[in-house]
Amino acid sequence: MSQPIDRAGAFGQNLYLDTRGTGGEPISFTKAVVNGLAPGGGLYVPEQLPSLSIDDIAALAELPYAQRAAAIYRAFNIDLADEVIDELMERAYGNNFDTEAVCPITSLDESTHILELWHGPTSAFKDMALQCLPHFFSASAEHLREQGKLDHEFMILVATSGDTGKAALEGFKGVDGVSIGVLFPDGGVSDIQRKQMVTTTGDNVCVWAVRGNFDDCQTGVKRAFSDDVFAEELLAQHAIALSSANSINWGRLLPQVVYYISSYAELVAAGKVQPGDEIDVCVPTGNFGNILAAWYAKQIGVPIGMLLCASNDNRVLTDFINTGTYDISDREFILTSSPSMDILVSSNLERQLFELTGRNAEAISQWMVDLNEKRCFRVDADTFARVRENFSADSVDNATCLATIKAVLDEHDYLLDPHTAVAYAAAQNLRGSNPVLIASTAHWAKFGDNVYRALHDMAPADPLPTDVAALTGCQLNQRIAEETGKRDIPAGLANLDAMEVRFTNVIDSNVEAIEAAAGEFLSRS
Ligand SMILES: *Cc1c(COP(=O)(O)O)cnc(C)c1O
Repeated sequence: MSQPIDRAGAFGQNLYLDTRGTGGEPISFTKAVVNGLAPGGGLYVPEQLPSLSIDDIAALAELPYAQRAAAIYRAFNIDLADEVIDELMERAYGNNFDTEAVCPITSLDESTHILELWHGPTSAFKDMALQCLPHFFSASAEHLREQGKLDHEFMILVATSGDTGKAALEGFKGVDGVSIGVLFPDGGVSDIQRKQMVTTTGDNVCVWAVRGNFDDCQTGVKRAFSDDVFAEELLAQHAIALSSANSINWGRLLPQVVYYISSYAELVAAGKVQPGDEIDVCVPTGNFGNILAAWYAKQIGVPIGMLLCASNDNRVLTDFINTGTYDISDREFILTSSPSMDILVSSNLERQLFELTGRNAEAISQWMVDLNEKRCFRVDADTFARVRENFSADSVDNATCLATIKAVLDEHDYLLDPHTAVAYAAAQNLRGSNPVLIASTAHWAKFGDNVYRALHDMAPADPLPTDVAALTGCQLNQRIAEETGKRDIPAGLANLDAMEVRFTNVIDSNVEAIEAAAGEFLSRS
């Protein structure tokens, strides 16, 4: 069938504003993707949002996922040709996922639907965005080069505590005009996570273990980003600029909006909801990107009632949604059983507040100054009322998270990863009468140690039994698969022990060491 959404009737050129109003004139999509962050520190948002009817949305179900995504990008009227969008989406969502549906929905009962966002190459939901953004980044840079607005290529530098690094490596490997370097804390990531990174193939990728913890890694990388002398050197010697392509890039958010629109179409097509009926969406939240994408989907026309925000013991977002005060002045960073949600500063909340204040850049700037100086800000009463209209929130501790994994396996014969378990438990506490779509953000086999603890009624911090602790991550997953009958371990995780280790370098965390490593990589023949 023909495309259900086209540009006929769409608005004219769609430009991007920034949340603090300090970035100057609005810019194009391609420029927003290449810039990432606006000058002055604000985040880009589109001036206009498309509006889709229920019929538009439902009709998406007839298209393959890549074409659904292309249709939605076209509705946003991005400044790339339609054929280019089609081709990039084909690359992003063609056959890199282990199911044609890309992100299928498994229903546990009539009103509890699990949106599986982990069928990509690294088995975590970050693939949904990072299989897509790199192609749009590369094409955007190319587009700007053709217009004479850019005369260099890029190196992406990422400090990772686990999931993001591998998803970024897989996304950027082999992409034209970009290379990628990832730094992880030596000894600070799981066996599975380390092996996933150091076995990555491709000529434009490099991985370093860093002596120090994740903070040391991140500080070193941030210093490299703000080192003007290094920037000039890279430009002069390699015609390269550094970029982060991190989760505040609009190009990472838009692919996430797609799956909430697409999921509603799927639920309707499967007869699980009637067209127009409301659903609630529950999201295990860290940096607020995933749940913000669901809010945008709601604005665009998906009948979403409440957005349920699930936190772990790092409950700053839950407290904010319940009180209107975002306070990290006296809050410790806690290591939990759901490490990818361990966060204190939730960057994408800035975009959400910009939208809920009616795009009041002045208010946002002030709150961000308060956050920086007082480690705390409080929103006004009107904004808080809008937060409460859209969101409810709950936090789930480690013991409840692990107990939920066990209970859901017993009750529904479905194995949750710890992040999805946090969302499932929060949804039980927060849900009303609407059906709930729960965002499932990782395959359980990425977090086998905590899944093992859950299945064996161990406490969250208990050391694994000696014989289990001696297993590799792959062997542990194999053991869990045998115990539970859940043998669907994704190929990318199951074969890691047999894959060639390509990167063994360990470097210091200081900025000189990081810059030297990056320079050496760029000088490779
Ligand atoms: C990154 C991540 C999250 C948090 O998503 P945000 O968009 O940062 O809120 C949740 N679960 C997993 C497994 C993740 O990797």
